[in-house]
Amino acid sequence: MRTLLYGKYLIKGAGKMREIIKDGAVCVEGSVIKDVGSFKVLSKSYRYDRKIGSDKHIVMPGLINSHDHGNGISLILRGILDGPLEAWVQEFFYRGMEGWNTYDNVMLSCINQIENGVTCFVNHYYSPFDLLDYDRHVKDIGSAVRAGIDSGGRVLFAPAFTNQNYCTYADESFLQTLPEEIKRYFKLGIATDKDKAERLKLYMKVFKDIHRKYDSKDERVRIYLGPSNVHWVSDDAWKEIKKTAVSLQTGIHTHLVETRYQAQYGSKFLGKTPAKHLEDLGILGPEVSCAHSIWLTREDISVLAKTGATAVHNPSSNLRLFNGIAPVLDMKRAGMSVAIGLDGANINDERDMFQEMRLCSLLHRVPGVQASHLSSEEILDMNLIGGSKVALSEIGAIEIGRKADIILVNMARFTTPFVSPKLSLIDLLVLRAKGSDVDHVMINGDLVVRNKRFLKADKSKLLRGMRKWRERDSELDQNLAKLVAHVRSFYQKWDEGEPTYRMNFM
Ligand SMILES: [Zn+2]
Repeated sequence: MRTLLYGKYLIKGAGKMREIIKDGAVCVEGSVIKDVGSFKVLSKSYRYDRKIGSDKHIVMPGLINSHDHGNGISLILRGILDGPLEAWVQEFFYRGMEGWNTYDNVMLSCINQIENGVTCFVNHYYSPFDLLDYDRHVKDIGSAVRAGIDSGGRVLFAPAFTNQNYCTYADESFLQTLPEEIKRYFKLGIATDKDKAERLKLYMKVFKDIHRKYDSKDERVRIYLGPSNVHWVSDDAWKEIKKTAVSLQTGIHTHLVETRYQAQYGSKFLGKTPAKHLEDLGILGPEVSCAHSIWLTREDISVLAKTGATAVHNPSSNLRLFNGIAPVLDMKRAGMSVAIGLDGANINDERDMFQEMRLCSLLHRVPGVQASHLSSEEILDMNLIGGSKVALSEIGAIEIGRKADIILVNMARFTTPFVSPKLSLIDLLVLRAKGSDVDHVMINGDLVVRNKRFLKADKSKLLRGMRKWRERDSELDQNLAKLVAHVRSFYQKWDEGEPTYRMNFM
């Protein structure tokens, strides 16, 4: 199958190699970009099975969502409001995914992303079924992987792994403060060495199984290791995970210092920062991507830059979960690789990477006439070049020989009534476009959205099925409220002696 995609503008290449071709076109053969150039030349050079585009379209690389958890329905719609992560995460774990068809949930998440122009996504997937509930866990993980594959997206699937500190970052002291009935209700306990080892063994079994079954069998699919975070994973497990990633030549995707308490975990329990701890364990490297990376020290930034690991910036999620602003300007100055993720929690509660890039542009504007900020070009490159590093593959640019992950964005809405000729196309996109402006989406040469219609599944039918969700369980609600209150007061003590965070305080 040979396809011609064309538009008023085409964004060829990325970074220093970026070039805007007016009246540009791209010839796609099979899954690969065969030729890029002017519409006039390309339309005559080959015979095509189909031609898609118009003089209202921008042809550009598909966007990359470098951190997500594959949750289809908004947590706000499910009554789970944003809150400080340590409290919010209790609701997410106990409430966020119950009563749910995993396949449909993940499929909806994929559809929402693809429709908005995201062609490649990380799914750092948390199963609602515990690893020790092995058969149901395995079945659930299988459904989540298959939904991603069936959606037509480019999938980086990283099953999440935790084997310590299940409730707080210091369960041993926390559980002493907790009434017996709450501990019993949620089956909370301290992870013993035996428990840690058992979970690691089961995780490796599940991971190796799905890796053997799915990794690179379809060229759109990679299976990564997904350790949850430094405080949630034992050192032995980190080492085993690294060894496995190296031997299977695959990626490691994790969270890192998302909150101030996670940074404090380093000083309280490791005697160093969590990033330094990962370096000392020999974990960091170009195959490692770390979501959030908000509370890094300057030394952490040089460590990450030196090892070639990528930080995934999640601007909306960081604000929504009270975690602050990641030091992205410092990361860029240090030459660190930075990507962008939606984390299932975009500012407008939709899966819109264009608006996420816009928030990224607004967030890193340092007050003052020296005007340090990220340019629209840098932000698009973070998404595409940083994202292709997370994907460990040559995507993120329209260039001959690369995989054809391409979107056509309709400019009509955001160029009305006119556009100044001095405005750059990249500024126009980053500062004005929305996911809903995307008309056509091609992934790996396959047309997945045409004229805003998702072609791989019946979205309306999917949504109709989801309306039958079961009602909330009030007993769980009451106990959760009690648990959350204890968690909040536990961390309040960690605040003592710490500098108060105040915006614009003089
Ligand atoms: Zn996350």
